[in-house]
Amino acid sequence: MIKDKIAVITGGTRGIGLEIVRTFEENGAKVILFGSKKESVEKALETLKKENRGVDGYYPNLSDFEEVEKTMDEIVQKYGKIDILVNNAGISANKKIEQTSSKEFEDIMSLNVNALFNTIKATVPHMKEAGGGVILNTSSMVSLYGQPSGVGYPTSKFAVNGLTKSLARELAPANIRVNAVAPGITNTDMVANLPKEMIEPLIKSIPLGRMGEPRDVANAFLFLASDLASYVTGEILSVDGAARA
Ligand code: NAD
Repeated sequence: MIKDKIAVITGGTRGIGLEIVRTFEENGAKVILFGSKKESVEKALETLKKENRGVDGYYPNLSDFEEVEKTMDEIVQKYGKIDILVNNAGISANKKIEQTSSKEFEDIMSLNVNALFNTIKATVPHMKEAGGGVILNTSSMVSLYGQPSGVGYPTSKFAVNGLTKSLARELAPANIRVNAVAPGITNTDMVANLPKEMIEPLIKSIPLGRMGEPRDVANAFLFLASDLASYVTGEILSVDGAARA
């Protein structure tokens, strides 16, 4: 479905991102994953190599525009273009506001929002030059309903939706589609790290009766990345088993 497309995926070393890497690779794309550290990128590439998947990897500091720009330029020099950019890297939070420092709030906004500005700003000139592209962002179910603690996380994901809808309008004349996927509770380290008391009642309340698997989410990204979604832009696609928590 995305044969010979060049796809860059941030937060591609584990969880949802790693599954998007696999799904895109299986569907014919040349995939370049980003991770936060050299070691985690090497570990992910090793795992993928054992699965006979040829994937490339980088670890730019996503909060540093110049570093991101240099990396995107390097990728375009090597592969000729970037067709698909997936902004998936993200961190969550669950502390009450009194226990949250302003630095913790800033760190969430820096990775979950500012980094998207940096990767998109560095990629758009290349997409325009190539005649178009697809930008996909990982939002969250909490971008619709908020959550009762960890206010930085839903705040950042509401911003992701705003950025997605605005850039969809700004970049449509350049034939660049911009969409987001809003997963519900998905079986990754991010959820494993949250307190059981918080997660178990949420899972019980999901109408489809189970937590999402990374592949459920990755398939939605594949659809939005492909020409099947050629007239879809500015959309926030929920993949949450109809959870409304
Ligand atoms: P995860 O913790 O398993 O993976 C996070 C990814 O982000 C990793 O690849 C990691 O390398 C990268 N990352 C973390 N900090 C980074 C940094 N400082 N710089 C660069 N990269 C960094 O989490 P996940 O559950 O796979 O989450 C992926 C995305 O999905 C996030 O944006 C998250 O907000 C979103 N999401 C997850 C769930 C869920 O239930 N798991 C639900 C809704 C949305």
